[in-house]
Amino acid sequence: MAGRNFLFVPGPTNIPDSVLRAMHVSMEDHRSPIFPELVKPIFADLRKIFKTKDGQPFIFPASGTGGWESALQNTLSPGDKVLASRFGQFSHLWIDMCQRLGLDVEILETEWGQGAPADRYEAALKADTQHKIKAVLVCQNETATGVTSDIAAVRQAMNNVKHPALLLVDGVSSIASIDFRMDEWGVDVAVSGSQKGFMLPAGLAIICVSQKALAKSKDAKLVRCFFDWNDMVTTNAQGYFPYTPSLPLLYGLRESIKLLLAEGLENVFSRHHRLAEGVRAAVKGWGLKLCAQAPQWYSDTVSAVMVPDGFNGQDVIATAYHKYNLSLGAGLSKVSGKLFRIGHLGDLNECMVLAGLGGVEMAMRDVGIPFKPGSGVGAAVEYYCSSVSHSKVAGKPVVA
Ligand SMILES: *Cc1c(COP(=O)(O)O)cnc(C)c1O
Repeated sequence: MAGRNFLFVPGPTNIPDSVLRAMHVSMEDHRSPIFPELVKPIFADLRKIFKTKDGQPFIFPASGTGGWESALQNTLSPGDKVLASRFGQFSHLWIDMCQRLGLDVEILETEWGQGAPADRYEAALKADTQHKIKAVLVCQNETATGVTSDIAAVRQAMNNVKHPALLLVDGVSSIASIDFRMDEWGVDVAVSGSQKGFMLPAGLAIICVSQKALAKSKDAKLVRCFFDWNDMVTTNAQGYFPYTPSLPLLYGLRESIKLLLAEGLENVFSRHHRLAEGVRAAVKGWGLKLCAQAPQWYSDTVSAVMVPDGFNGQDVIATAYHKYNLSLGAGLSKVSGKLFRIGHLGDLNECMVLAGLGGVEMAMRDVGIPFKPGSGVGAAVEYYCSSVSHSKVAGKPVVA
């Protein structure tokens, strides 16, 4: 098929050209005397991305799922109780992992389309007078439903009842694209991966650990080996890894961090918000609904669009892919067939989003979903032209 594929899944995301070039490297000795010159600045810069002063970042050769596992294994012991809410496939999978690792999970079942219920976290923590709950788990951005939760509110809930549990946050589809504040929110382990906001291929679990969690890892008893923080701590301090790291991914990470910091994190966040608002204007223009039930939960990295009754979201996705070379995200598990997802994170601008929205319109028209062609694209155009852009082309600010 001529032309390029339009990648609108919420990960992996588009890789900027300079990151692709940065990864095109010959292999070198990862124990050479100059290797720390690559590694040490990456750790220092990751602290800026996580917004932490003395949090300890770790980079594992893994995906986000490995980051989840590392967070649990290093802080908890068999049979420990943890508190988590479930409102989508990713929050579900982390809970499933807890159970498979032998943890006792108190689950706050929450409707898919809503976010983490801070009030119910508080009630559960208040009832736990003996402090049996050792960790509180929250998924900041539920990628399956396009729902963003308020992590500060969960921290507040913990503080309100002075609960000493650790706060573990899944930020795989939010960190580096939606505001995240490790220190301010008192997050003890933040989990991310390379293929979403970091604009890289999958292959790195990028996590950040508070000093409190690091101390806890000394007596946590869950069995661990590959994901052990202690092996990382000793070697990372010298600028090395306990086992062979992926060199292309590290060079790519150095470049992607450089891009993120050059744009400025706050600008990255506002660009994501602006692009997402355009997508939401389009969904409204089509007369369709988001899975996210209220604006407080709207995600700036992914929109899950409900298809009308009688239609299958999978048909929209298949048509978009086969006919228009456009990749959309599927409905997972409970919402399979009921929605399609538009990923709008990473290396993305207005024109790219409009191309994606145009492709969605063609695919929806092909499968017979009733809407007026142009209604979504038009609404997004109106939004982009009437709101302020922070992006710059050739040094000139482009402002409406
Ligand atoms: C993608 C994702 C994961 C899983 O990451 P993998 O890299 O696929 O292992 C976990 N949580 C959330 C919220 C995600 O979006």
